[in-house]
Amino acid sequence: MIKRKLEVKCPHCKKKFNYYEGEFRPFCSERCKMIDMGHWLNEGYTVPVKGNLDAELDFDEFEIDESDQGFGNFYDDKEQ
Ligand SMILES: [Zn+2]
Repeated sequence: MIKRKLEVKCPHCKKKFNYYEGEFRPFCSERCKMIDMGHWLNEGYTVPVKGNLDAELDFDEFEIDESDQGFGNFYDDKEQ
């Protein structure tokens, strides 16, 4: 088994690593990859997406209007 080696520099932190063994090439690590992608995405990676999840919960919210059902009058009649 021939082990190939190509020494390259990480575009982000300039650290040298073996290109053929790099899982996150051309970056040396996942961290460098995510940081670099974040720059491309206008640094949006630093902002949690929690706000969107909260907004979706409002879909199941609805109001029941019982004022026109006559329940109040029904109980009043029984007590009298
Ligand atoms: Zn790096």
